[in-house]
Amino acid sequence: MQGRMQDWPLTVDRILDHAKAWHGGIEVVSRSVEGPIVRTTYAQIHDRAKRLSNALKALGVGKGDRVATLAWNTGRHVEAWYGIMGIGAVCHTLNPRLFPEQLCYIINHAEDKVLFTDLTFLPILLANRANMPTVKHFVVMTDREGMKGVDFPGALCFEDLVEQNSADCAWGGFEETLPAGLCYTSGTTGNPKGVLYTHRSNFLHTLVTMGRDVMGLSATDVVLPVVPMFHANAWGIAFSAPAVGAKLVMPGQKLDGASVHELLETEGVTFSAAVPTVWQMLLNHLRETKGKLTTLKRVVIGGSAVPEAIVRGFRDEFGVSVTHAWGMTETSPLGTLANPTRAIAMMSDEEQLRFTLKQGRPPVSVELKLVNDAGERLPHDGTTFGRLMVRGPFVVGEYFKGDGGEILDEEGYFDTGDVATIDEFGFMQITDRAKDVIKSGGEWISSIEIENIAMGHPKAALCAVIGAAHPKWDERPVLLVKLKEGQAATKEEFLQHLEGKIARWWTPDDVVFVDDIPLGATGKIDKKLIRQRMEGYVLPTARQAATA
Ligand code: ADP
Repeated sequence: MQGRMQDWPLTVDRILDHAKAWHGGIEVVSRSVEGPIVRTTYAQIHDRAKRLSNALKALGVGKGDRVATLAWNTGRHVEAWYGIMGIGAVCHTLNPRLFPEQLCYIINHAEDKVLFTDLTFLPILLANRANMPTVKHFVVMTDREGMKGVDFPGALCFEDLVEQNSADCAWGGFEETLPAGLCYTSGTTGNPKGVLYTHRSNFLHTLVTMGRDVMGLSATDVVLPVVPMFHANAWGIAFSAPAVGAKLVMPGQKLDGASVHELLETEGVTFSAAVPTVWQMLLNHLRETKGKLTTLKRVVIGGSAVPEAIVRGFRDEFGVSVTHAWGMTETSPLGTLANPTRAIAMMSDEEQLRFTLKQGRPPVSVELKLVNDAGERLPHDGTTFGRLMVRGPFVVGEYFKGDGGEILDEEGYFDTGDVATIDEFGFMQITDRAKDVIKSGGEWISSIEIENIAMGHPKAALCAVIGAAHPKWDERPVLLVKLKEGQAATKEEFLQHLEGKIARWWTPDDVVFVDDIPLGATGKIDKKLIRQRMEGYVLPTARQAATA
């Protein structure tokens, strides 16, 4: 027997249809790549996205074809997304922070037919055009004025396409299991692999993230996603903001403290989301300029662990509450959020902070388990470390084109590559990435935990901890510190700062002051590169052990 409810495929075009119908006059404000602030509405975005759909059809794009975007967060980028997805083509977001060789690899692997690009990225594209033979058309996301001097075979002007095509275009009408989006992981091991989202997975992710204990967006909010649309779908905000009818503020390419602060204040932003490094820049800027946050109420921070100093800075100096979130490209991306339960909400602010610093608990439909190397389940006691495994309707089942082979265990769980604990309140805490955890004398040391505490040192601009070879212990931690400008410090100062905050045997064997701690394409500390740079480094304790 079948149920008797309507067949209403969960396709993402319906999200923008809804925004147009019920929140059509709500603004989408962008800091354009050309510079000025541009104001549109959901109704206009809907209309222009449909025109782009017709333009794409005329270029021969059909269901399942991949169309890439190499673009900042702007209203035009939102129009391109819906224009592509609405006709069943696949929107492939490219991360401009990747090296050109990686970009070409990904474009070729995806076999992108058309590529939307901001003016910013034309030099990279033109220099590498010969290496992306599948791309027949480049849509430059600007107007005729911006196209001056831009002339190469295959170049098209975004605003011309909008102007020349009709807004009469049927969206949807296909199965919800059709692919809608494609995003490659940054490939910290081997080549980047593609995660191919379906309309259904994006739609369900949107519904789940709208929940009050998740992102909790509302039609009363003004939302500024600093997190780029090319970084795990801007954590779903380009779907969830129109879904609830929130005003959307897009920061374009200017993500520095002053530019973000200006938009937060002038547009009355209440909610924002970004990785910790962005917030650190904002807090530094606010302190330097004695700036205020008069409308911002909540920020979601994820992508890497949130240092305590950021949570305290927002809470105590600016009255902004922080929600810590964990996720990955493979989970669409939201997996857990550290919003309090009733029991936690009744604790003191200081006690609650302990939970805010964890990565949090899963919303309905995200299933988690912790296992050991043999795949056996581990207890949720807050101290046992294990591999974090995840399963659910918006979790990857297989990489694009089957890369990497079978990626699920026999129960259908995906191995996140993260090592975590889960406590008795159900709060998950990432202790490390499996490949970054420091293995010392058969025990594991969390590099993230030491980094976060070290970051609380007033002279630290950025800290990273890696394992260095040791003849007796296998590996021992080394703390790398980039000092704030004009500061000087001793190793002892940093070791003293850690004392009493971590187990004694976790204390780094050395502190190395460096000029630069490299960040990868998604704003995270690039440990692979640090390890390369530290090649040839020998721990002082290893030298002593060798000569003893
Ligand atoms: P990548 O940066 O490798 O391309 P993602 O952006 O998908 O890929 O990053 C996912 C990874 O980022 C997670 O597996 C985890 O290691 C890390 N991560 C994400 N959020 C957090 C967080 N709140 N705390 C610690 N690590 C996090």
